[in-house]
Amino acid sequence: MLMCRDLARISSDYIDGKLSTADSLSVKMHMLMCKDCRSFIGNLRESVRLMKGHSDYRINEDYAQRLDQAVDQALNSSERH
Ligand SMILES: [Zn+2]
Repeated sequence: MLMCRDLARISSDYIDGKLSTADSLSVKMHMLMCKDCRSFIGNLRESVRLMKGHSDYRINEDYAQRLDQAVDQALNSSERH
């Protein structure tokens, strides 16, 4: 299982969409269980977005938003007891 420190180490690659499908799935699974890392990724993603400005980052940002929506949906369904 991915640990918080592992997630922190690969978080920038995750945000850039550079991780393999298996690795990014591990990150998503971790974020489902760990709200600290969810907010960490969210803050990091926002920082990266601000730094990169009007570059060609939009494609990866869309990808990241789709991941976010998937995580949100999974969170909502898992918390609906
Ligand atoms: Zn964590």
